[in-house]
Amino acid sequence: MIASQPRLVIVRQNVLKNNDVLARELRERFRQADVSVVSLVSSPGSGKTAFLERTLSALRSQYRVAAVVGDLATHNDAVRLARSQALVKQITTDTVCHLDAKMVDAALEDWDLNDLDFLFIENVGNLVCPSSYDLGEGLRVVLLSVTEGEDKPLKYPTIFNTADLAVITKIDLAQAVEFDLATANHSIQAVRPGMPVIQVSAKTGEGMDRWLEELYSFRRNR
Ligand code: MG
Ligand code: ZN
Repeated sequence: MIASQPRLVIVRQNVLKNNDVLARELRERFRQADVSVVSLVSSPGSGKTAFLERTLSALRSQYRVAAVVGDLATHNDAVRLARSQALVKQITTDTVCHLDAKMVDAALEDWDLNDLDFLFIENVGNLVCPSSYDLGEGLRVVLLSVTEGEDKPLKYPTIFNTADLAVITKIDLAQAVEFDLATANHSIQAVRPGMPVIQVSAKTGEGMDRWLEELYSFRRNR
């Protein structure tokens, strides 16, 4: 046998291909059930869970909302999100540093998608491999907190390039950490020209209206 490609590369390509097939099936199921699916991806500690908790609470009065949340080891995020009264399920990935379509599919097993308007998928904190895994979502949101470097989009271009919307979190801390919004914006636009950028604080609620508007418009245009 002539090994034109290392075996691991071939295995990895097959894994990704299988993922794409399942993600396509998920997307079709979401469409049929008329559920709007939003995934959130960021580095660890960028405030995804606080942001999502606030989002679920805000949507709950008007929409049927649910969330699946991926974490390496703990169930803490699910417990926290459950305070919003939304349906929440934890995916504990052990050593796997990203979610894949199979994990999402399994997590949805005992929910009827027809009972949902919005489904949020919080990925494991990681800006690298989540970019390669389609989860069947309709809107991919990448988060960047003001406590991270303004050049993070330049360091992790692929994830920013696969996202539809960027959210800058913890904007209430911007001054204290001397975050330069213009530079961050510039970095984002350099890797993904035209991508909408929203600044929010899950703590003060600043920017949440704008974010909710994006969600309403995403659902309207489905
Ligand atoms: Mg989290
Ligand atoms: Zn990974």
